[in-house]
Amino acid sequence: MGNNRFPLHILLATAAVAMLAVASPVSSVSLPSGLGDIASKLRNPWSAFQNLTDTHFGEQKKGLARLKTYLARFGYLPELPTGFTDTFDADLEEAIKSYQRNFRLDITGVLDAATVSQMMAPRCGVADVINGTSSMAPSPSQHVHGRNLYSYFPGDPRWPRSRKSLTYAIASTPETPAIDSATLRAVFARAFGRWSAATTLNFTEVAWSASGSSTADITIGFYAGDHGDGEPFDGPLGTLAHAFSPTDGRFHLDAAEAWVAGGDVARAAADEAVDLESVAVHEIGHLLGLGHSAEPGAIMYPTITSRTRKVELAEDDVQGIQSLYGGNPNFKGVAPVTPTSSREMDSGAGAGSRPWTVLVAAVATAVGLAVVAL
Ligand SMILES: [Zn+2]
Ligand SMILES: [Zn+2]
Repeated sequence: MGNNRFPLHILLATAAVAMLAVASPVSSVSLPSGLGDIASKLRNPWSAFQNLTDTHFGEQKKGLARLKTYLARFGYLPELPTGFTDTFDADLEEAIKSYQRNFRLDITGVLDAATVSQMMAPRCGVADVINGTSSMAPSPSQHVHGRNLYSYFPGDPRWPRSRKSLTYAIASTPETPAIDSATLRAVFARAFGRWSAATTLNFTEVAWSASGSSTADITIGFYAGDHGDGEPFDGPLGTLAHAFSPTDGRFHLDAAEAWVAGGDVARAAADEAVDLESVAVHEIGHLLGLGHSAEPGAIMYPTITSRTRKVELAEDDVQGIQSLYGGNPNFKGVAPVTPTSSREMDSGAGAGSRPWTVLVAAVATAVGLAVVAL
């Protein structure tokens, strides 16, 4: 997507970050209405958005240009080579409405507190809007049935039918967190296993080679800041990871996150702790061809709150992946929905598309990034 609008290449020490001790039982993060509040208290790359609360059409406010950059990054505004202004114009109002529709917020076009909180939530770097339509906004009929909100990338790219067995390798980048190798490998094996359980695909880990001679279909790596694909990471929280659509195979994680690879992430010492397996399950969905879903309980929903574990495929994810690859006859179905696995928000979703999103999509497709950012 060619965005380099986040020049915050935070080169953080990543060593101290991993494997937070399961220490004091701390507060729950799963309250439906409290998630945004908690997220907004944590310092993150988008904390300054809080100063924009209640800003509306016609106003001039310092920081709106940055917010427009954020919305452009995730597909809600077209790229603007000349840069954005701090004016709350009609395009911004439409972009905010589109965002609110996708996240089931009240569609006000105003930067109300709920919208600002949602925008500050940690998320995937892949975009929500691509090719002129929002991948997240369901059609009215879909909304009525409350299901099938999954989406694919433009053109429905998938791995070839002849490829039921895919390989993956974990790159030994300098920024890889200090998580012991066996634990790290087990996390990714479990994450892949959740998708293979529902489909006819299977995944095997192969050795990674620094010389680039690895023949793995999928390559997983931790990186900090700008790492050469036009999608720089932004330090703790903000974007957590991103992955490319089939058959690219690249899956990158922000090395600056407080990744938790074992134990109960809800009891992790750091408020910024992020569950590695949860993020891995989501990004593997992108690697296989799924875009973002507007279903808050779905693995493919774009945001996840820190100190939250969400690893079970929802019915929406299963429908989406089985429509692409077929179902596994041994699949036992999705686990019962637990109230802590998703955010519960007001409804209000509907179809939406904007002419200018075509431009964004064209850029995104050209770069090959699966719809833009987690
Ligand atoms: Zn990357
Ligand atoms: Zn994503």
